[in-house]
Amino acid sequence: MKRTFIFYAFACFTLFGCEKQNKSGQTFMIPWPNEQSFEALQPVSIPTLNSPYVVSGPIAKVYSDQGLTFSGFSGDPVRPQLTLVGDVFYPLDVKSSMALAIYAHFERLFELDQQLGIQSQLPWPRRVGFDIPLVDSITGQQSENNAHYLPDRDIIVFLPTNSQKLPMPINPGVIAHEHFHAHFNFLLGKSFLNKTYQSNIEEYNVEILLRGWNEGLADYYALVYSQQPEFLGASLGDFWNQARSLKTPIQNIKNSQYYFNKFEKGLSQNQVPLYLVYNIGTDLARTLVHIVEQQDEKSKIRNHKEMIRWIVSALPQYQQIFSEKNNKEMIEPVDLLRFFFLENNKVLSMKQCEALVKVAPQILLKDESLENQCL
Ligand SMILES: [Zn+2]
Repeated sequence: MKRTFIFYAFACFTLFGCEKQNKSGQTFMIPWPNEQSFEALQPVSIPTLNSPYVVSGPIAKVYSDQGLTFSGFSGDPVRPQLTLVGDVFYPLDVKSSMALAIYAHFERLFELDQQLGIQSQLPWPRRVGFDIPLVDSITGQQSENNAHYLPDRDIIVFLPTNSQKLPMPINPGVIAHEHFHAHFNFLLGKSFLNKTYQSNIEEYNVEILLRGWNEGLADYYALVYSQQPEFLGASLGDFWNQARSLKTPIQNIKNSQYYFNKFEKGLSQNQVPLYLVYNIGTDLARTLVHIVEQQDEKSKIRNHKEMIRWIVSALPQYQQIFSEKNNKEMIEPVDLLRFFFLENNKVLSMKQCEALVKVAPQILLKDESLENQCL
C-alpha cells in the first residue's frame, strides 16, 4: 500500500512553514499522534539514533521488507532516504517515515518502562520489523494487516499493510500492545514456551486463559501508552472496535467452564478457538479500566499508570502459583484479579470495591468480604 506522507511533508514546508521542535537530538518530520489525528505530520525529536541515516540505536533496530532467520531478521536496519531542510530531516518515502516513527515510539515506550520500573527486564535495543512477508500456516496465503510478537526470537513483526486505515506499524496502541507481550513473556510466559500438555485442562489454562490475560494486559498497557481506548479500531475498523474497545462497559466476567466447553468443542474439530483468548483478554482489560475509572476523572492517566505499575510488580509472583494450579485444576478468568486485588492487598475505594464485586462476584470466596481493602 502506498501512503502519501511525503506529499503532506512537502505541502507542509512549501505552504505553511512548519514549526520546529528544539529538543536535543535530531528532529524528523514524521507521522505522529496529536489531539486531532493519529498520523499528523509533526517535527519529532529522536535523540538516541546513532545516525539519522540508519534506524538503529540503543533503543531499537527497525527492519523492513525482509525475511526472518532463526534468531531475528535477515539483513540490516532501514536506511531512511532523507532531505534536510533547516535543521529538520524530511523522509522522502513512506518506508523511511514509518521506520523513524516506530523508533520514536520505542524511545517513549522505554521512558514509560522506566517509570514502571520494568525496562531492565528486557534486552535493548528492541528489534522490530514492518512489511515483513509471513505466510499463514493454515491458509498458505500471505497474511496482512496484523502484528505479532515472536517470543522464540524476541522480536516484533508487522505484516504488510493493505488498508486505507491507520497502518499498524505507526499505531501507538498497537506498537505498545506488541511491546507488552515481550514483558509478559519475561514476567510470566517464558516457562510455558513449547510446552507439551498432559491434559485438555492444562492446555486450556495455558493456551486460552494465560494467553487471554496476556492479550488483556497488553491492551491495558497500550491504553496507558496511547491514551486511546479504541486504538485497534483505528487500524481495523468497526468490527474489531466493537469487539475490543476499552470504552465499552463490562457486564460480568464469565467462569472457565463456559470457555472450556467452547475450547473442547474447538479441539474436537481440530482447532484451537483463538477468539476465546481475546474474549477473556478484553473482559480483563475492560474490568481494569472500569475499576480505575471509579476514581477521580482528573487524575485518570496517573491512576492508570499506577494500576499498570501495580500489575507488573505483582505479576512475576504469580508464575509459581499458576504453575502449581495448572497441573491440577481449571483456572478461573477471575483468578488474576483475585491475585492482584485480594492476595496482594491492593487498597481500593469503597466505590471500586463495589464495582469489582458487581463485575466479578466470584472474586470472593465463601464468607469472604473485601472489607479490609476498602477505604
Ligand atoms: Zn496481542
